[in-house]
Amino acid sequence: MGRERVTVVGGGLAGSEAAWRLAQGGVEVELVEMKPGRRSPAHVLDGLAELVCSNSLRSDNPHNAVGLLHEELRRLGSLVLSAADATRVPAGDALAVDRERFSALVTGRLRGHPLVRVRQEELLRLPEGPGLTLVATGPLTGDALAADVAALAGGRLHFYDAIAPIVAADSIDMSIAYARSRYGKGSGDDYLNLPFDEGQYRAFVGALLAGEKVAAHDFEEPRYFEGCLPIEVMAERGADVLAYGPMKPVGLEDPRTGRRPFAVVQLRREDVAGTAYNLVGFQTRLTWTEQRRILREYVPGLAGAEFVRLGQIHRNTFLEAPRVLAPDLSARERPHLFFAGQITGVEGYVESAACGHLAARAMLDRLAGRPFLPPPAATALGALHRHLTGEAHPPGYDYQPTNVVFALFPPLTGRHRGKAARKDAHAERARKEIAPWIDPWTHTARGAAAP
Ligand SMILES: Cc1cc2nc3c(=O)[nH]c(=O)nc-3n(C[C@H](O)[C@H](O)[C@H](O)COP(=O)(O)OP(=O)(O)OC[C@H]3O[C@@H](n4cnc5c(N)ncnc54)[C@H](O)[C@@H]3O)c2cc1C
Repeated sequence: MGRERVTVVGGGLAGSEAAWRLAQGGVEVELVEMKPGRRSPAHVLDGLAELVCSNSLRSDNPHNAVGLLHEELRRLGSLVLSAADATRVPAGDALAVDRERFSALVTGRLRGHPLVRVRQEELLRLPEGPGLTLVATGPLTGDALAADVAALAGGRLHFYDAIAPIVAADSIDMSIAYARSRYGKGSGDDYLNLPFDEGQYRAFVGALLAGEKVAAHDFEEPRYFEGCLPIEVMAERGADVLAYGPMKPVGLEDPRTGRRPFAVVQLRREDVAGTAYNLVGFQTRLTWTEQRRILREYVPGLAGAEFVRLGQIHRNTFLEAPRVLAPDLSARERPHLFFAGQITGVEGYVESAACGHLAARAMLDRLAGRPFLPPPAATALGALHRHLTGEAHPPGYDYQPTNVVFALFPPLTGRHRGKAARKDAHAERARKEIAPWIDPWTHTARGAAAP
């Protein structure tokens, strides 16, 4: 029997990792990459796996969720992690790389692989089946292909993310916060609320107006959706706009006083276990330093806040993965098409590479006629998969891109006193769970042997 063949579109972090994993699994891969003939506005190098902005793959410490993801990817024989290790530059506990050497190494390894062929072409339409194709064209997918993906997604493809900060539950001052949903809807106490009096509200609006904002890239001229305006833009529109918008207090009387505050910040559960809360409607382009400062200084109850994620808004093409994709990352409507990387709503270089690995495993399973074996839930890969399937999120969650964070993991069982102990427990549990999922030499497609 001949070798199976697949197409991978996009040779970024996700596509490069996936092409490598597929080829290591004995499958012939045609990797279609539009560079250097055509480039997105953010890409400048000619090679594959280009890091478009920072040269850091973030913390390499396994007590951070992303460091744990590094560790898992290394154990799985990741191309991206091995190239990063080989081109590492000193950066404390971060895994930072020489980006040109990193890209050159990934390109060389893929071009040198006997089962990989790199074709330079911009794909304008999604390929018809029955052959399997992985789409990994990233957050700046060109307009033509994006239109085709949008048609497939039936309106569930977004072009900007609008991310609100997320705060660790145990860093919220619960002597100030109170639990209540608007007009007592749902179970009545689904949200936490941080109350402002008028003076506190005016001071907060002043700080937003004065705060330093992130400058948009040339290709990101701000075209905000009215329903999704950054808080500082709302503040610019008028002193009371926020108090009538995301900070409106109606139906949110404080049960301790029976009175309605002048304004509130509402906090909504980010994960089923309630370890993290997002600030509802607080998407923002304030710099991360300013977000930390202003939210801690001006929002009652957040003086000691630990931020799991900070707010941002940028150009980012992404699918609502839980609705558009099946758990094996293939399109529900056209199962010969798989998706990976930032276009699925994971955020970050390492997360994109990890998603490429997951999709490649799923494609190998499909080719071998096996059911897809998802990564164990309590691993960092499993946490990303729980995000992609929606399992990590409460019902009605507004799907937005995310980095890997411990809030996506299933809650820990047993008692773990303090943050360090909880991180230890996450890492230890993940290490145990990932072990049986690692079988890089046997995980191949039917009729194919790893070279
Ligand atoms: C401006 C910007 C800055 C970012 N900065 C960071 C950062 O500092 N740190 C971080 O962790 N993450 C960052 N990200 C987020 C994310 O991690 C990166 O975008 C990451 O590269 C995503 O990986 P990917 O494989 O999904 O897409 P990409 O790495 O962008 O790869 C997509 C590839 O597909 C190719 N391609 C696109 N369309 C086609 C087509 N139609 N036909 C053929 N080829 C095509 C592209 O040329 C590209 O090589 C940033 C994103 C953006 C947009």
